[in-house]
Amino acid sequence: MTLRRVLVLGSTGSIGTQTLEVLGAHPDRFEVVGLAAGRDVDTLVAQADGLGVRHVALGDRGAAKELASARPDLEVLDGPEGVVALASLEAELCVNGVTGAIGLEPTLAALGAGTPVALANKESLIVGGDLVVAAADRAGGRDTTLLPVDSEHSALLQCLRGGRRDEVRRLVLTASGGPFRGRTRADLGEVTREQALAHPTWAMGPMITINSATLMNKGLELIEAHLLFDQPWEALDVVVHPQSVVHSLVEFADGSSLAQLSPPDMRLPIQLALAWPDRLPHAFTACDWTRAQELTFEPVDRSTFRALDLAEAAGRRRGTFPAVLNAANEVAVEAFLAGRTSFLDIAEVAEATLEAWDATDPDVPTVLEDVLAADRWARSDATGRIDGRGRR
Ligand code: MG
Repeated sequence: MTLRRVLVLGSTGSIGTQTLEVLGAHPDRFEVVGLAAGRDVDTLVAQADGLGVRHVALGDRGAAKELASARPDLEVLDGPEGVVALASLEAELCVNGVTGAIGLEPTLAALGAGTPVALANKESLIVGGDLVVAAADRAGGRDTTLLPVDSEHSALLQCLRGGRRDEVRRLVLTASGGPFRGRTRADLGEVTREQALAHPTWAMGPMITINSATLMNKGLELIEAHLLFDQPWEALDVVVHPQSVVHSLVEFADGSSLAQLSPPDMRLPIQLALAWPDRLPHAFTACDWTRAQELTFEPVDRSTFRALDLAEAAGRRRGTFPAVLNAANEVAVEAFLAGRTSFLDIAEVAEATLEAWDATDPDVPTVLEDVLAADRWARSDATGRIDGRGRR
């Protein structure tokens, strides 16, 4: 069997390190040929040396220059363009584990080079939705060139193998409900950074953990599901499932629902995306069906967790609206993490910025410069709102 050559972007982050762990379990199937990180030089070098990788990229220019002079044996690409160039190298798969809107251009570069993308970078689809879907369809079809690493979308992909697309009635995404499940709006006014960061089931980076607490993460995942699986908004739903064992469900036209179950561990969706359409005979974790356990489901409280409706509204309007929502939300989350704004302000800032966005004609196809400009505008608008609130 020939080795599947893999590029890993964001290799020093949470998804990146778990991806390398999965790849390391299958040296007979995969070869890592390029690694990209932001600024964590020491970890990147240790990874490159351990795997015998020569092509690396660092988004931080200063860090890249240092590394290039210290290690002339490595091909060091520098800056955001360097990460994009690394994504365009010849490979059979590009894993995009970058955090934030900066992950969009590498996704487009990989697809442009005809390389399928294992996508953990949500923002690629949120910010660049139409662009990414069009690039994936040009690269051979989104079903085979955009492989979700998100647990929910991986679950949906698996369940969708249980029937034809024209037999699907609904995609139901599960949400853990985060640390504030069952709370009312009044309860959430004074919650702290530490409370919001204490996710009950998943260990993740700070941005996505806060997005799970506000349910913005689930809202963004609805937009992703809409684009990845080409389903209308009416066919997308969310149900709260606190145990995070059922990762999502597909309901078919005859009333049958198929669900995917596994312990909350990202190595499974990562491994599946790496080997898709194969399953590899290596279980990092599995459900223990000899043990008594309860799986529960409850409706989502959309009036307390308003981020869900906001994301749906932005997703329905398409174009640059999801990019604006995402950018405003990122700014507000960073401000919350820095103690500069309250938990409830996150959704309020995102909503106000979304309402203030004066979009271009929605019938004109979006180009990359439009979404980048929308992203910049929204960051500046949201920053102004937060500063204004601080002075109140
Ligand atoms: Mg998820």
